[in-house]
Amino acid sequence: MPTAPASIESLVGAPAQPLVDPFGRNIGYVRVSVTDRCDFRCVYCMSEDMNFLPRRDVLSLEELDRLCSAFVGLGARKLRITGGEPLVRRDIMTLFRSLARHLDSGALDELTLTTNGSQLARYAGDLVDCGVKRVNVSLATLDPAKFRAITRWGDFQKVMAGISAAQEAGLAVKINTVALRGVNEDEAFELIEWAHRRAMELTFIEVMPLGEIEIGRAEQYLPLSALRARLSARLTLSPSQHLSGGPARYYDVAETNGRLGFITPLTHNFCESCNRVRVTCSGALFMCLGQEDSADLRGPLRRSESDELLVDAIRSAIRRKPKGHDFVIDRSIPTPASQRHMSVTGG
Ligand code: SAM
Repeated sequence: MPTAPASIESLVGAPAQPLVDPFGRNIGYVRVSVTDRCDFRCVYCMSEDMNFLPRRDVLSLEELDRLCSAFVGLGARKLRITGGEPLVRRDIMTLFRSLARHLDSGALDELTLTTNGSQLARYAGDLVDCGVKRVNVSLATLDPAKFRAITRWGDFQKVMAGISAAQEAGLAVKINTVALRGVNEDEAFELIEWAHRRAMELTFIEVMPLGEIEIGRAEQYLPLSALRARLSARLTLSPSQHLSGGPARYYDVAETNGRLGFITPLTHNFCESCNRVRVTCSGALFMCLGQEDSADLRGPLRRSESDELLVDAIRSAIRRKPKGHDFVIDRSIPTPASQRHMSVTGG
């Protein structure tokens, strides 16, 4: 990594015009995938037999730092590091340590990550030292045998130890649970009680038709409108004013005194307030999770040591950000909305 990191002004020239898309949405939130590899093979995310990118196609940590810093220079206030599993990328703390300078300077409000939790016991303390205040941990079940079946390769106890280590280190933990028909819907109450007892928020997510997997999406898909109705019969859910800056809509749960989120890309998308873009670990900028259009940022990164080409490429991509996605899960539509697995685009 650079020993004396460049300032934002020297990277992109000051003052930078903020990133505003054709629909007037201010793009202030960037999710950056640092690897397409993962130590799990969750059945809703990947197929068991995945092809991964050759190393030369993956951005180096220095390139990832330049890329993230260019976005910060263009007004991004929130960076989420993701993957694949971000904490299996070798030397990943070097990137967090370097990006922490944008928190220190006040240019960035939040540096965070989404993780499966398998490596959190090892890295929780380092993450706190890098200014990370909260993490999202993906967890679909509290049943160790079911956990193994869903993740194929995951070790439930390791994830539990990771969550405990994160909380002990002072990180706020949010649990993300992909709702799976007939798999974890019977555990919804238990998951809520467990998370809220430990002072963690929990958010349910509708499964999206991204990438080919072994079974049809219609078999997995559980509309959250149905789950919410079921939960409302037993719990008092009041709409919360809380906004996380992401796509979730929140409810306060009176009985558990905790917060419950719903991410509903199928039953009710919130594209009109989308402030996000995603960059893959090979530098493809996706302006929408559910659309195919992307812009290559690796070429501009590698062609020049200065960031002018990179900034131009980002600006021209944002001018093409589409209005939204239109996911459909239906037995009559056998092909996924996108051939890209979530592990490629980054969650
Ligand atoms: N490995 C990390 C993890 O497990 O959180 C980060 C990457 S993972 C791709 C990011 C998020 O995407 C996770 O919360 C995962 O559950 C979610 N996800 C993966 N495939 C999905 C799909 N098809 N529909 C909805 N969410 C999905």
